[in-house]
Amino acid sequence: MPRITPIPAFNDNYIWCWIDEDSHRAAVVDPGDADPVLSFLKQHQLQLDTILVTHHHHDHTGGIERLLQEASPQSSIPVYGPSNSVIRSISEPMHEGESFLLFGRRVQVMTIPGHTLDHIGYFVAASATDQTPFVFCGDTLFRAGCGRLFEGTPEQMLQSLNRLNELPAETLVYCTHEYTLSNLAFAAAVEPHNQAIQEAIKADQHKRQQQLPTLPSTLAEERRINPFMRTEAPAVQAAAGNLEQIDTTNATEVFRVIRDWKNRF
Ligand SMILES: [Zn+2]
Repeated sequence: MPRITPIPAFNDNYIWCWIDEDSHRAAVVDPGDADPVLSFLKQHQLQLDTILVTHHHHDHTGGIERLLQEASPQSSIPVYGPSNSVIRSISEPMHEGESFLLFGRRVQVMTIPGHTLDHIGYFVAASATDQTPFVFCGDTLFRAGCGRLFEGTPEQMLQSLNRLNELPAETLVYCTHEYTLSNLAFAAAVEPHNQAIQEAIKADQHKRQQQLPTLPSTLAEERRINPFMRTEAPAVQAAAGNLEQIDTTNATEVFRVIRDWKNRF
């Protein structure tokens, strides 16, 4: 299993660091701040190999330029990112369905717009030597929640979540923010009788008390606790129907109403 470690940044960001133990090289995902990454690399004697970016927001991109200058002044480091983005430091603009090799694993690019229009995710399937698939999904899917719709429509975001939902159940979900406890409080308001949500609250409160991350999540778990992945669940449909007169068999409408409620929650 690859070693993937969170480097905490700002208040609640995680810059995920994928470490190749054999070569002592590392890839970082969405480095919004260079300082914590540079000290982590130094402390663990790692060489920066690759930067992956999911979307243009500053808390995901603000450290890239300095990392390029300071982490590897001699050689150029590839910066993967969305092809339709304003991010100037991207050297490898990626389109839907494209893939590349990183530390011997094939990384598949998925376009998952909604939070922003340039949002992509990076999926790594199980391999012969490693049974655990994983995905870096930026600010699209959070544990028990999803990103705000800054640029896209509810329909786009729901489609993106549905695409992530097609990945294998055991896929580890590496989100960028530690929003879990507030997301779970909202999920419990949407579905007060959902036992899996109550169990997640207990387990994750315990983790946070010990200052441990609640991530990665898994898709199997998200299917049980995440209201934004549960627009087909009768309890979620009923909650949306109580807020607005909508056709609750229309998943986009259910998603829109629940997402609006979360903005006010
Ligand atoms: Zn964002």
